[in-house]
Amino acid sequence: EAKRTPLIAGNWKLNNNHLEAIALVQKMAFALNDADFDAAEIVVLPPFTSLRSVQTLVDGDKLRIGYGAQDISQHDKGAYTGEISGAMLAKLGCSYVLAGHSERREYHKEDDAVVNAKVKAAFANDITPILCLGEGLDVRKAGDQVSHSLAQLDGALKGVTAEQAERLVVAYEPVWAIGTGEVATPDDAQEVCGALRVRLGELYSPEVSRASRILYGGSVKADNIAGIMAKSDVDGALVGGASLKPDEFVKLSRLGK
Ligand code: PEP
Repeated sequence: EAKRTPLIAGNWKLNNNHLEAIALVQKMAFALNDADFDAAEIVVLPPFTSLRSVQTLVDGDKLRIGYGAQDISQHDKGAYTGEISGAMLAKLGCSYVLAGHSERREYHKEDDAVVNAKVKAAFANDITPILCLGEGLDVRKAGDQVSHSLAQLDGALKGVTAEQAERLVVAYEPVWAIGTGEVATPDDAQEVCGALRVRLGELYSPEVSRASRILYGGSVKADNIAGIMAKSDVDGALVGGASLKPDEFVKLSRLGK
């Protein structure tokens, strides 16, 4: 059985102008080597304003680092001031886009229907959505993290075909672990990631369940990634804070080694 390629994705959030972005990607590219890119897929997700610069750098120097965006409009075009479409992102060479990040759900009131529309907009433009989901502290305390996360998965995948779902990336990100320094234990991560994989099998097929990559996110750092990655249903990490430090992100990409 073919092993899923690990994916390490850096969510820069609202950090770095385009000049800083170029400098950061160059530092990472200088430190990473072919063996690193053979072992894992390494991706950065800068703000929209840096995507053109990152594209030029990656294309010009034939870098193996991938990139994508942090958000996508659910609309194709029209009177939607401030929005960025999937076609625009595809034209900039974006391979990935986040959908459903907890900060979008919280600060921009994105519900499962909006997240579903964004996942479909990504697939329609051949961009792989990284579907983020996960429970808050209240749900965790009640012990309902699995049912909560599965409901978010179901809601985000309505109308998504099996062919599309095979390319899907899901990121389990318990909200209480994001940016808090409080990382989930490897067993906590495996519990929900394993349940998500079972559900993908129920929604689609054993093939989709085997092919989809499921990441953990929430205070991942070079010194805690190895234990999380050792779990059978965790295929990588979505990294916020630690992705802004080149040395740390390079170490993370080597899965802490
Ligand atoms: C994130 O924003 O997706 C995230 C996981 O952030 P952090 O690594 O800073 O917790």
